[in-house]
Amino acid sequence: MDCLFCKVIKGEIPSEKVYEDEFVYAFNDISPEAIHHILFIPKVHISSANDIDQENVDYVSKIFLAIKKVAEKLEFADSGYRIVNNCGQDGGQTVEHLHFHVLGGQSLGWPPYHK
Ligand code: 5GP
Ligand code: ZN
Repeated sequence: MDCLFCKVIKGEIPSEKVYEDEFVYAFNDISPEAIHHILFIPKVHISSANDIDQENVDYVSKIFLAIKKVAEKLEFADSGYRIVNNCGQDGGQTVEHLHFHVLGGQSLGWPPYHK
């Protein structure tokens, strides 16, 4: 399958690894929108939030545990951060492998879009 983030997991595309365990891979976004901008992805191919199901939902909880660990390690857990998932065309999803953006290390505006 020709999936960019599956290739990142396999090491076929280089990435700046931030965290890895049996279920989760995390790496710096190539085009950061904040001081810390890390992408957390499941180590199985799930195309988007629309494809989360009973079989693979545990990957999502593992991702959230990993986010907390990384936020603590990089010392932005207490000051706060944002977790973003873009789903589908209107959501602005450009890579069709489920990913959670974690933005932190600075104060972030809200809302992040224009009406
Ligand atoms: P989306 O728009 O799908 O929510 O987010 C995709 C994200 O992947 C974007 O923030 C983009 O900068 C990032 N990205 C795209 N290609 C690469 C890549 O090859 N390496 C890394 N590290 N990030 C990428
Ligand atoms: Zn994939």
